[in-house]
Amino acid sequence: MIVELINTGSELMLGRVLNTHQQWLCRQLADLGYVVTRQVAVPDTGSAIEQTVREALARADLVIATGGLGPTSDDLTRDLVAQLLGKELREDAAVLAHISHIFERLKRPMPERTKVQALIPEGAIVLHNPHGTAPGLAMEVRPNPFRADGKPSWLIMLPGPPRELRPMFTDSVVPLLRHELPLVSGFVCRTLRTTSVGESVVQEKVGGPLQRWVEAGLDLGYCARPGQVDVRLAASGSSAEQRVREAEAVVREVLGTHIYGVEDDDLETVIVRLLTERKLTLALAESCTGGCIANRITNVPGASAVLLAGVVSYSNAAKQKFLGVQANTLAEHGAVSEAVAREMVEGARRQTQADYALAVTGIAGPSGATPDKPVGTVFIGLAGPSGTVVARQFNPYDRETFKQITTQQALELLRRTILSGGRG
Ligand code: ATP
Ligand code: MG
Repeated sequence: MIVELINTGSELMLGRVLNTHQQWLCRQLADLGYVVTRQVAVPDTGSAIEQTVREALARADLVIATGGLGPTSDDLTRDLVAQLLGKELREDAAVLAHISHIFERLKRPMPERTKVQALIPEGAIVLHNPHGTAPGLAMEVRPNPFRADGKPSWLIMLPGPPRELRPMFTDSVVPLLRHELPLVSGFVCRTLRTTSVGESVVQEKVGGPLQRWVEAGLDLGYCARPGQVDVRLAASGSSAEQRVREAEAVVREVLGTHIYGVEDDDLETVIVRLLTERKLTLALAESCTGGCIANRITNVPGASAVLLAGVVSYSNAAKQKFLGVQANTLAEHGAVSEAVAREMVEGARRQTQADYALAVTGIAGPSGATPDKPVGTVFIGLAGPSGTVVARQFNPYDRETFKQITTQQALELLRRTILSGGRG
């Protein structure tokens, strides 16, 4: 099935709005087995939209266009599509009633211009918009004058605001696709999330053993981000489920505990789950990560069951006052040192009585380096029931990436320690 996505909006071309529809819709569609083959963003000018829709209808079985359904002068999609397909626009009484109801509820007069949103191209299906005034539209272009073989295409138009588009996609578009464009072959996609191993190593380890499956049509993909590599396994056809299951077993065999989760799992979710299951608690002492670990942990619902406290001990004085780091340890080894990381983490654990504590101290840069401690040097301490370990890492990146990778390493050290039931 050929699926194309058109995102309209001059704000996208000016870099004022991030095209999140592209990612969100591609992801939703891919999970359902409709992999987008082409995506294009165009400004709100009539000619660009018209030309792009025409081109997409010449190729695709399904075209989804976003934006430009509103009432303002730059909202042209509805008119242009009606014109392009030679359909008349007719006022839809139910849509008009919905729009006036929204204004009544807001106790505001309904501007005349708003009524254009109730104009529906002849033959189009109205996709109800409970979160806004502009309905979505779905049309089967049959016969399709733009396709050489005249094969029909579906054209679906969705409103621009994400809070309107997303529920409309889930509630109206998905059932429509299932009914009107059912996939002949099954599609299965599985993502395994790994950490503490680089992209090329993952590829090296996984590529060979999966060769046989790839030759048989398995789609093997990698996605690397700071401190994390995802392995994506996808297959279609009647035996898709089995092939993906077999491939997953192979990947699990070669990557073992580097795999920390599946699909959208993140490390903090896994940590909160592991600690909760074991009724264990956590304390944090962060210097160079400035509270990022605490932020990640507290993003997880239920974090209060495990996180007792987090200290951002940025200055030496704070390290001494809140964590009991010794003045002479700081003087002798420097704030970024194994000895200080050890005292920080043991201090955090002692002060809070947590089962586990994590501490980080490092040089995010650009200044602060010494000959034996270049920018990117970081010490990660972990204290638990079986003692304390301190790992030295080197993350010479910009500050934000440095923080992301360092927090990932700290959480991973904790995950492995919990799983091994003791020392990391
Ligand atoms: P409205 O009735 O709000 O005018 P519309 O269907 O006409 O809706 P647009 O005018 O194209 O849609 O976009 C409305 C808003 O939705 C934009 O200002 C922008 O904030 C958001 N938006 C539009 N397209 C995208 C996109 N591709 N990614 C993320 N946000 C978007
Ligand atoms: Mg608009």
